[in-house]
Amino acid sequence: MSATDGPPRDFDAIVLGGGPAGTAAAIRLAGHGRRVLLVERDRFPRFHIGESLLPTTNAAFAALGVAEAVRAAGFPAKWGASFLTHDGSFQRYADFSASGELPEPQTWQVERAVLDEILLDRAAAVGVEVRPGHRVLACDFAGRGVEVTFRDEEDAQYRARAAAAVDASGRAGLLARQFGLRRVDPRLANISVYAHYRGVPPLEGRRAGDIRIVARADAGWFWVIPLREGVTSVGVVLPKPLFERLPRGSHEGMLAHAVAGTPAMAELMREAELARPARVEKEFSYAASAYAGDRFLLAGDAGSFLDPVFSSGVAIALDSGIEAADALDRALARGETGRAAFAAFERRQRARYEAFRRFVLAFYSAGFRDLFFQPGAHPRIFAAVVTVLGGRWRPGPVNRLWIALFFLLARLQRHVELVPRIYPRERTDDALLA
Ligand SMILES: Cc1cc2nc3c(=O)[nH]c(=O)nc-3n(C[C@H](O)[C@H](O)[C@H](O)COP(=O)(O)OP(=O)(O)OC[C@H]3O[C@@H](n4cnc5c(N)ncnc54)[C@H](O)[C@@H]3O)c2cc1C
Repeated sequence: MSATDGPPRDFDAIVLGGGPAGTAAAIRLAGHGRRVLLVERDRFPRFHIGESLLPTTNAAFAALGVAEAVRAAGFPAKWGASFLTHDGSFQRYADFSASGELPEPQTWQVERAVLDEILLDRAAAVGVEVRPGHRVLACDFAGRGVEVTFRDEEDAQYRARAAAAVDASGRAGLLARQFGLRRVDPRLANISVYAHYRGVPPLEGRRAGDIRIVARADAGWFWVIPLREGVTSVGVVLPKPLFERLPRGSHEGMLAHAVAGTPAMAELMREAELARPARVEKEFSYAASAYAGDRFLLAGDAGSFLDPVFSSGVAIALDSGIEAADALDRALARGETGRAAFAAFERRQRARYEAFRRFVLAFYSAGFRDLFFQPGAHPRIFAAVVTVLGGRWRPGPVNRLWIALFFLLARLQRHVELVPRIYPRERTDDALLA
């Protein structure tokens, strides 16, 4: 390893990681006139999971100045989500335009290699000093600010100083781990196997770009996401005990086994050919006991990560990156960057996590699924649910009431057969209905 290189550099903020949360924070801070260094381990473009977006990302893209570049990338347009039961006998179409609280209901299915590069390029264009191919090694808060040590691909080491840091290092969670803030959610200890395929038939017309979620007969589920050029992203998410029952072997073999056991998926994948090797992602979900500390904030997955059933990850990452930047800018203006300065930021991160988590947990319960898949569900109730699934996690008061009613009915369905049962009690977990 080479000796430390050059004199320390000074910035207002150093952003750790250049995914959606990190680039959003860096672009926004630069927009506030702050001097920003962004250190990203990988060289872009690079593969990343997290391909299905929510309509609320439109506002974030506009705020970050990338809406036009995202539109020009040619991603499939996503207007909603189609949910199917394991044998395809029940379907539920969540059309984002039914919500009434999502002013721009159309969103995108993205290759993250492309989206993340658009965001990183934008950061460089607005004056952020971007260092791709540099791995953060250590963050030292002993002095008045923060000193970050990082290393390039030739093993040269660098140090930079700033008033504060934004940890946007994703599931690596550099500062969350350094300060022991990560709290794994034992009720969502899920695992995913996923790959890209060709030859998966798309839906037709306006729904051709929708995500399909196929609920298994047990608590697991599949995603089917159409990407550009005839490629489809397919993955299964399983609670850990169910994952452990898959036969050991290649990741592709495990995914194929899971597909074969779910008739609706087996039918969709009849002619599918592998286009990208399968991968496994473990260890979700988790939250943070604190989303900020003295001279640092956590944004995106670095703070918390939720099971991806409702595709909330990138939307949360972008919004929390922007919010971290605004909170830090205000703190810097007051000259007060202790944890107390970030109290409102922390409250918002926690509230959003809890709002989405309530829905995610419920999806693993039979009561919720029975009601959700029921043909002829009350349109106002369903529109309210779609509002949250579209990313508006704090809907207006009327929709909040409808949602409360929906959860009440789903809980009652545990004890009384309000609607015909679709899901077996013993294979799902009604205790998850909060
Ligand atoms: C199986 C699965 C399916 C998912 N599906 C969806 C979906 O359909 N839709 C959706 O919205 N979300 C989905 N997600 C979630 C989504 O992937 C994340 O929420 C999102 O990527 C979070 O963005 P981020 O910027 O916080 O973190 P990331 O995108 O992970 O970015 C973190 C960055 O930090 C960098 N980094 C890490 N360590 C260091 C270091 N030491 N030094 C420098 N840089 C470092 C990494 O290289 C990376 O670029 C899914 C997640 C999983 C696991």
